[in-house]
Amino acid sequence: MHFHVVTLFPELFASVLDATMLKKGQERGALRFTLYNVRDHATDKHRVTDDAPYGGGSGMVMKPEPLIAAIEATGAGSERKRRILLSPQGAVLTQSRARELAAEPALTLVCGRYEGVDERVRSYVDEEMSIGDYVLSGGEIAALVVVDAVARLVPGVLGSAESAEEETFEGSLLEYPQYTRPPEFRGQRVPDLLLGGDHGAIRLWRRREALRRTAERRPDLLERADLNDDDRAWLEKIAKDREP
Ligand code: SAH
Repeated sequence: MHFHVVTLFPELFASVLDATMLKKGQERGALRFTLYNVRDHATDKHRVTDDAPYGGGSGMVMKPEPLIAAIEATGAGSERKRRILLSPQGAVLTQSRARELAAEPALTLVCGRYEGVDERVRSYVDEEMSIGDYVLSGGEIAALVVVDAVARLVPGVLGSAESAEEETFEGSLLEYPQYTRPPEFRGQRVPDLLLGGDHGAIRLWRRREALRRTAERRPDLLERADLNDDDRAWLEKIAKDREP
């Protein structure tokens, strides 16, 4: 997967791209990153990339010419690149959307700054994407969130293929509680069942704890979860137990 990132601040990406999973993914040849500095595409003497909004109001708006020139510079090469503008007005990123994006050969991520981008830039991207209902000062951290969520689903990036399978949101449930050694820490014990080797019992316990957690914390997720009769009976039992 080749990520093309259009930004005024390419230096914000170095520490994240040069460590841990994203670094390993590049070393393994599964990921590639190319950064495009919008300022390099400004043609005037002072390399201006922003201007005051028409109609007045506070702040500055990213000018269309250098930003669109930078977006178009990502177009070299034969691979098709889906263009995504980071924006609090876009559809919010979800795990299932991340999985769809992980199947693309390449993505272009466009980062806004200041009060945002000139409206005409929107016709040069395929979609707008938000990372949540709050406003950031720029698209760079949002782009890194998209990169992180998508890259770990690209084959060959994570060490073991399973590690991204049984997780929170995969299958619309929150993940079951996880423990590692020691078996007892400051009076809190790991459930005995997990210390034994009964894999069938462990699988059932994990499923039921995932259901319990989701019912307690995110009941909205259960509406689109794939549930069997045993799951439903268990959820009814939990609901009864919780009745006063
Ligand atoms: N005035 C704009 C917000 C600009 S914030 C508005 O009200 O819509 C500046 C830039 O930060 C945006 O152009 C976008 O690239 C990025 N950004 C801010 N919040 C974001 C969010 N929740 N998700 C993704 N990108 C965001």
